[in-house]
Amino acid sequence: MSEGPARSAAAAQRGSCAPPAARLAPGAAVRDGEDLDPREVDALLADLRRTLQGRFGTADETRIESGLRSRGRLIVPVRFHVVASGRTGRLSAAAVRRQMATLNAAYAGRRGGADTGVGFRLAGYDVTDHREWFRHPRRYEGPMKRHLRKGGRRTLNVYTAAVGTDVLGFSTFPQWYEGKPSMDGVVIDYRSLPGGSNKRFDRGYTAVHEIGHWLGLLHTFENGCVPPGDGVSDTPYEAWPVSGCPQERDTCPQWGADPVHNFMNYAYDACMWGFTAGQGRRMRASWAAYRDVGRRSSRGPDAARTRAGAAPTRAGAARIVTPELPPRRDLSAGLGSLQ
Ligand SMILES: [Zn+2]
Repeated sequence: MSEGPARSAAAAQRGSCAPPAARLAPGAAVRDGEDLDPREVDALLADLRRTLQGRFGTADETRIESGLRSRGRLIVPVRFHVVASGRTGRLSAAAVRRQMATLNAAYAGRRGGADTGVGFRLAGYDVTDHREWFRHPRRYEGPMKRHLRKGGRRTLNVYTAAVGTDVLGFSTFPQWYEGKPSMDGVVIDYRSLPGGSNKRFDRGYTAVHEIGHWLGLLHTFENGCVPPGDGVSDTPYEAWPVSGCPQERDTCPQWGADPVHNFMNYAYDACMWGFTAGQGRRMRASWAAYRDVGRRSSRGPDAARTRAGAAPTRAGAARIVTPELPPRRDLSAGLGSLQ
């Protein structure tokens, strides 16, 4: 399949740099300077507008949302793939359930932000013992996802591995699904789950952040002070990402103080706590545009609308995949290039 229209030539030419939707830790050698460039931001937002216009006759997310809200909370089925190396990284079903609870709390606004109208249901959990995938999930992203991925465009596949302590996770955007469905999903560091060993990022908000990208959100500091910023109307412009536990600040001439505690920024987990209503609308609109398609409604088995917090699928026995000889490719785009 060809690359999606929103994956611009700039993305293809990016070469060695940070994954475009990565969450970087403070002090990382490479920050957001090599994140999406303005042309990629324009391409993603233009593709969303075009797709919404085509499906709903309008790109006005408030109007679209008013129709969607009446259908109740959007529940996303989640397939959780734990990749481990022996005992290292072997997350328990209980740890996965805590992550799910954190997702549901964060997206419902129970950490302090707006209720996005989005919830999550655990639809599957498996464990794979594969040393190379575990240690180099970016390098082996393709083979790892091709082996483990389940479901269609409505299913959120989450992979845990040793992503790193500078880059905590990476995600695809919904605009990319059409071009590369097998790569769709979110990869997070196994130490970032609630109670994990990454001290500053141990509340499970790395998954919250990366899934925000999977649902169509950009960083709040995207494009700096230059319009359209992140393209969301109620997240004030912000010149650069925060780090640590940020003070209130206002870095752009436009209205509003910086959204320093937003989940789509880079604060420590202890200092991020919310999405905005506009981000909720953006996620639901992106879902309607890119993921809730191909069937008459999203009530199919792939995206059952159930109550948030419905009992998760019972965690199955660990599934062990025999390690394979990894292909030699794409070393320049690996995390090693971030040093
Ligand atoms: Zn990010």
